[in-house]
Amino acid sequence: MSETILTYSSGSLRASAAGGEAVLLRNVSFSLREGETLALIGETGSGKTMTALSLMGLLPRNVRMEGGSVEFCGKTLKSEKDFSALLGRKIVYIPQNGLEFLNPARRIRRQLFDALERMGTPRSEREAQAREKLALVGFEDVDTVLGSYPFQLSGGMAQRVTIALSACSEAKLILADEPTNGLDEKARGEFMVLLSRLFPKAARLIITHDMTLASLCERCMVLCGGHPMEYGESTAVLSKPMQPYTEALIAALVQNGLRETPVLRSEKGACPFYARCPKAAESCKTKLTHHSVGEREWWCRDASAC
Ligand code: SF4
Repeated sequence: MSETILTYSSGSLRASAAGGEAVLLRNVSFSLREGETLALIGETGSGKTMTALSLMGLLPRNVRMEGGSVEFCGKTLKSEKDFSALLGRKIVYIPQNGLEFLNPARRIRRQLFDALERMGTPRSEREAQAREKLALVGFEDVDTVLGSYPFQLSGGMAQRVTIALSACSEAKLILADEPTNGLDEKARGEFMVLLSRLFPKAARLIITHDMTLASLCERCMVLCGGHPMEYGESTAVLSKPMQPYTEALIAALVQNGLRETPVLRSEKGACPFYARCPKAAESCKTKLTHHSVGEREWWCRDASAC
């Protein structure tokens, strides 16, 4: 039986500001076993990145988690120390823009050496290992890449370097935030293959609005306004949505992201999609009901709103 790597429950994630308090995430929960891949999908502001930040213990100071928990390999993570002992070693983050993530003032060799040093790799082995990591992510001219500054790389090359940096770890959980943004179609297709080849046993959480990328993950969770809307096998969710928001999300797919569906009514409802939902009913103002059949789950006014 494969090991459960992550069990996550957001509880209520609350942000306080001068104007009052806002709930950023509610009732988002999932678990990931080794080798499994889950895509979190939704528009900008749906709660995807906040989910990732909370499970890395990197929430902004004005945001607190109430009633939620992050369990990693059987241990509940609570303090900053718990998280920082794992970040970059067992929990590894792959950013959406490799060029912005890499240190512009250091050559790629130095950045790989830094990552290897953090993992305790002896100085005498760092050059060979840095070369090996770059070869693993598909670079043929390793010498040129090692001697380059980030600005000398293309977006796709920089993204592969960030994956090479991730490979300098003992990752059990990979968090990739919009990892294919700005990449061409070929590089996007290669990304998932590369991740599963480099980290076959790691659990992988992919945050994306790229439906093609989501369809390559085993499971997906659809978020809207910080609330889960649908969850299940990606092929099933994306080909036969049970929920109007998922349906709208798929229909709104455009080449470079998601086009927001129009606002249809001014009131707010219990469902975060209420103001824009073409299938809303009076009852959606006051309740959002959870439904499930097997491993498929969705939140909507009734079991067949789609
Ligand atoms: S609960 Fe109502 S408003 Fe929300 S998606 Fe379902 S039908 Fe639309």
